[in-house]
Parts: sequence; structure tokens; C-alpha cells
Amino acid sequence: MKKSIKAFASVLAAFSLASCGINQGDINGADGTTEIISEEPDIATSDDASMDASQNDAEEEYVVQPAPVTVEGRPEEEGSLAPENRYSLAGVHEVDGRQGVAYGDECYYISGSTTLTKYDSEWNKVSEAEDPFAGFENEVNHIGDIDVYDGKIYAGVEYFMDGESKNIQIAVYDAESYQLVNTYSFDESSGQTEVSGIAIDPDSGSIWMTSWTGDESGRYLYRYDLENGSYKGKVHLQCPPQWLQGIAYYNGCLYMTADDGTADLGEPDHVYKTRIAEDSTTANVVLERTLDDVTLQGEVEGISFDKTSGQMLISYNRGSQIVLGMVKGFYEGYTEEIHEVFLYNIEGFKREYSFEEIDECVDGSGWNLILVNKDNPVPDDYTVSLTDLSNGKQVDTRIYPALQKMFDDARDSGIDLFVREGYRTREDQQSIMDNRIQEYEAQGYTAEEAEDMAKQYVAIPGTSEHELGISVDINANSNVSSDDTVYTWLNENAYKYGFIKRYPENKIDITGINNEPWHYRFVGQKAASEMKELDMCLEEYLDYISE
Ligand SMILES: [Zn+2]
Repeated sequence: MKKSIKAFASVLAAFSLASCGINQGDINGADGTTEIISEEPDIATSDDASMDASQNDAEEEYVVQPAPVTVEGRPEEEGSLAPENRYSLAGVHEVDGRQGVAYGDECYYISGSTTLTKYDSEWNKVSEAEDPFAGFENEVNHIGDIDVYDGKIYAGVEYFMDGESKNIQIAVYDAESYQLVNTYSFDESSGQTEVSGIAIDPDSGSIWMTSWTGDESGRYLYRYDLENGSYKGKVHLQCPPQWLQGIAYYNGCLYMTADDGTADLGEPDHVYKTRIAEDSTTANVVLERTLDDVTLQGEVEGISFDKTSGQMLISYNRGSQIVLGMVKGFYEGYTEEIHEVFLYNIEGFKREYSFEEIDECVDGSGWNLILVNKDNPVPDDYTVSLTDLSNGKQVDTRIYPALQKMFDDARDSGIDLFVREGYRTREDQQSIMDNRIQEYEAQGYTAEEAEDMAKQYVAIPGTSEHELGISVDINANSNVSSDDTVYTWLNENAYKYGFIKRYPENKIDITGINNEPWHYRFVGQKAASEMKELDMCLEEYLDYISE
């Protein structure tokens, strides 16, 4: 929101960053990931049939996904503000609109000073508000940074004329139709003189506003109630960033963009971070990132986080020369201002899946109930789309959210486990079989005997559930958890995530496979719950539901 005069810099300059006592040492470091490397697992599980422990492979590494250190919601006590995140530039997309950016429901939203535009996940423009200023009781003509929450666009809007703002409001639009559904006027007693950025913090039920102009710019964040828009007070930032533009909430912290670099001198702008305790009236600010990899000769605007892909989004303008807050021409090589969104991958980002998402992957086509056993081989035309796990194993992409959530929850309960075996090709299975036959031959058995014996322990190629990609062998990280602890937890909890213990002890006569407390098969939450309730294995359950 480049429209007022930078004379306020002198006011802000009085707040020397050096005097604020932020320890630079706290600002750096923090890798953001925890790698849990297991010792050699105690139980070998590389076949469908049970194997003896001598078949263990060499040391296995961790889990479904390395568990990063995440901050969930608000901390109980004020901790270090050291950045949890590291960022790497992942892409740039040109957009229409110079003010703000927001992510919601797998779409991106861009605000211009007078526009609201939606882009799909591939950054194709899909729609635009016809008249974002329609329906206001108190007239507005300017939109700042935006946020999207619960199907609504939240925009900081105002009437801006001759360097003055009035009618500052929080505008709430339906994110599909752009219909104005609500407005909340700002509280004049707050001292806020304009609105540049807006952020929704669902954890504390707050709407936060920033101001770019005025004596208070950078010194305060203004808090409003997410439910009813009432003013809840302002928070004094220590130290105050200069020229706050955008604001976004992510993982318990507020992130703010400040166009505090002077474009003419090639100085970069910055992202700052603060964590605000409930009811606190002050909050410390630290530098989160220097934006030295954006295209310079420009200025930062909005900020948002894509919580699906785990990216930070920064909107940025370049090309125009801004003097005293007004566009006064263009830098060499430019004939117009260019608006772009810079995407940054966040190292250590960890997506959390919900039970609803697990449920959604069961689409009614029956893929989750396919039966594979010695009488029912994997169909020749079976295809599978795979997701790589962090230790190199692979699973059917459709079961990944369920598997990840199950592992996240297990770890939250202090259980440490990892995927020992996931998807296996027909060739993988054949080579396991061939190796086993060779072992028996080496022990002096005839070829025929060796093959018969191997088939007692190794699924015949084409009949292993691992070839589906929806079965996993799960082992304990024996540094932390015993096998018993892991198998017990899985036995009691896996059904909630749609997994069943495929080869239980009491069904050997039906499955034809020995007890395998580590082999879990995805069938979906409904089927898994019913099978647990009825004490049925998959063969029994399929008969039961076909009756
Ligand atoms: Zn298995």
C-alpha cells in the first residue's frame, strides 16, 4: 500500500533495532527437522509370510516422513522466537493486483487496490469480483492485503483520498461469489490511521490488522474478534518494523512483510515474525527472512502461507519508482509495474491430515476392498500411483494421508515406528522368492523341495498384497519403542485410520498366512471399523458384505 509519505521514517528511526535487545544468536539456526534414525529392527518383515529374524536387512531409517519440530497453536509459555523455518525460492508467478495474496481451499487469491481475483492451484486466473466496493454502508475505494478463512475472503478496506484514510473496515466476502457478507468497522479509539494488512488467527479467534502509514505504523498490531468483529485491543511490537505491508498467521506466529528496503539503493525488504500470547499487550519481533532473492527495484506487499503444499507466498511489485508513496515513473527497462507472487518452500513443513481427508480417499469405486491372496492374484492391468516416503519406501498415493496421520498420532502417543516395507513390484516379489529358493538349495534341498519350502514363507509373485501399494509392514524403532508396544498400539488403533491387521493369529486357517502383527492393509475407516467389531478378516468381511 504505497500511498502515503515516508516522512514517518524519522519517527520510526527513533526505535533503534540495536537497542531492542534481540539476541542475533536466537534468530539463526534451527534446522526445523528431527531425524529419527532407528537401529536395526528386531523383526524382519520383507515378505508376506512371516520370516525369521535372520532375514533382517541392514539398518533402516525412520518413518513415513521425518517429524519436524512444529509449533501447534499457542505455546503455554513464551519461548524462543528463533525461526523454525528455512525457506527456499520455489517459483514466481505474475498476477493481476499489487496489494495482497492469500491461500484457501486450494486456490490463490490476489487483491489489487480495487480488485479481488482468484487463481487455481496452477495459477490460472479463474474469476474476479465484479465490484468489490458494492454493498458497503460506509464508502470504501481501496483494498489492502487479504486473508482467506473458512470460505470467506477477509480484506482490509478503507476510503483513501488525499493522503488520508477513513472508513477503515474489515470486509468479509464469500470466496466463491465475492458477495459482501459482513463488514466490521475499526475502532477509532485504537489510534489506527489506515489498514495495509489483515490476517486471520483461528487459534485465538482473532483478526489482526496492520497499518502502513501514520505514527503508529509498525508499532502496533490491532486485534479484532473473529466471531463478531469487536475491537480487542492493540499489541505493541518490540522492536517496531518499518512500513508494515502484509500479515499472515502460521503455526502459532504472525509473519509480517515490511518494505523497509530502499529500492533505489538496492536494499532488500524483510519478513518479520512475532508470537503474541493471549491477552498480551506487547510482543517481541524478530527478523524471519531477508528477501534478497526477489527481483529488486520493487517493494514487498502481502504475505500468506499455503498450508497444503507448505509454502510461504510473498507478493511483490517491481518496475515503478515510488517517491513519497506515489508512482513517479519507471525504472529502466520497465514501462509498467509488474506484480508477482514469490513462492518459498518451507523446509521441515509438516502437513497435518484430518480424518475427513482420510475418509475422502474412499471414493466408492471399491479400490480399497480389492482382495489379493493365493487364489486371487493382482490383476494384470492393475496400476498404482505412488508417493515416496522419506526412507525411500513407496505407497499408493491414496493411502498416504491415512498412513501419515496414523504415524503422527502414534508418535504423539510416544510410539516410534517406521514403514519397513511398502509397495513392491512383481519383479521385487519374484527376486525375494528366487533368493529364498536359492537359500534352501544351498542348504542341500532339491530344487523342487526348495521351491515348496519357499512358497510356505514367501507369497507367490502376483499374490502379494504389497504389489497393490496399499499394504505396509510397520516396525518399531527399537531405540524408542519395543515391537510389542508398536504392535499393541496398531492392533488397538489402526482401524481408526482405515487399516486392518491383515493376517491375525486367529485367522490363519482362512488367510493361509501366519500371524503377521506388522502387516497392515488399508481398507478404509468404515470397513476397518466393521471388521474389528465383527472380528472378521478381509476374506470373511467380503463374503459378509456380499450377502
Ligand atoms: Zn507385509
